[in-house]
Amino acid sequence: MVDLRSQYQRLKPQIDASIQQVLESAAFINGPPVHEFARKLAEYLQAGYVIPCANGTDALQIALMALELKPGDEVICPSFTYFATVEVIALLGLTPVFVDVNPRTFNIEPDEVKKAISPRTKAIIPVHLYGQSCDMEPLLDIARHHGLPIIEDNAQAIGAEYVFRDGTRKKTGTIALIGCTSFFPSKNLGCYGDGGALITNDAALAERLRMIANHGQSRRYYHDLIGVNSRLDSLQAAVLMAKLPHLDDFIRRRRAAADFYDAAFAGHPDITIPYRAPYSFHVFHQYTLIVHRERDALVQYLHQRNIPAMIYYPVLCHQQKAFVGKGRLCGTLHHSYWLSQRVVSLPMHTELDSDQLQYIANSVKEFFVT
Ligand SMILES: *Cc1c(COP(=O)(O)O)cnc(C)c1O
Repeated sequence: MVDLRSQYQRLKPQIDASIQQVLESAAFINGPPVHEFARKLAEYLQAGYVIPCANGTDALQIALMALELKPGDEVICPSFTYFATVEVIALLGLTPVFVDVNPRTFNIEPDEVKKAISPRTKAIIPVHLYGQSCDMEPLLDIARHHGLPIIEDNAQAIGAEYVFRDGTRKKTGTIALIGCTSFFPSKNLGCYGDGGALITNDAALAERLRMIANHGQSRRYYHDLIGVNSRLDSLQAAVLMAKLPHLDDFIRRRRAAADFYDAAFAGHPDITIPYRAPYSFHVFHQYTLIVHRERDALVQYLHQRNIPAMIYYPVLCHQQKAFVGKGRLCGTLHHSYWLSQRVVSLPMHTELDSDQLQYIANSVKEFFVT
């Protein structure tokens, strides 16, 4: 699905030099690259503050911890997402309230969010799935009306943009109160291990998030809060420092691959190509088709041809064994079920060449004529 080896070969001199600096400085924890990367990423995102942490799941957990919720408080989220989004809600003793997604965008449906709000609702976590921004303006309106914070799960969409009705654009993860992102190797901006970050424009909140990520310390050995130990290490920050200047090029390459696939599958009777919402600049973390028949057989067929197609996600979060008896469903989640039976993601990364793309597209089309 990704080709990290080829990408490394292409960027090797910069990445090696960056790592070498850390090895020679021996500042493995909280070294200069960690601060430098946080500053550069904030600049890239045009956000006030970036707080690095150990991974994207921790970022979500730290964000929720900062809101000081009580057990039983409800957090609205999609069920059609990666498990981590919902896991941290349950881990903190909060109740996930699952709402349906829009069948075209795969993202949380603002009208469904409105219906899900109860007196116990304390936060909303939209997920910018596959690299496409959620429709944020209606969500912000709902949140403002009810006085609710929004935490954006931006793990799949770093560099994506949302276009407001008045034409202003903002990078996803910087639009609501807190944004959370992941630098897992296969993410659009990935390091060579685990990494993550929180994003906010609020200075006081940034300080609080920083404290929670660092054992609740206000200064060394003075602990004002119960926190966690969640750090981005210097080596990972060094990799990210070398890769960040290439992020826009990574996005350009992903979008070019998506354009190729779109052209190959346009008008196909059995396939719906990914919808690109007019309010979103899509960064294609995944290129995900809706396949109207024999989806599982297609995946098998592609695997036989050495094409690693994947299903994200075959089981909705609320159907996972871990969530039995936990959480509340808002409505039937009809679109989420429908999608979980039809989606398939094709290889999508920065190193796909036209022969590979042609082979993949031909294979998909051949499956449907056989
Ligand atoms: C990857 C991912 C996460 C978790 O990130 P990790 O760094 O793996 O902990 C959370 N939410 C979504 C939507 C993701 O894709």
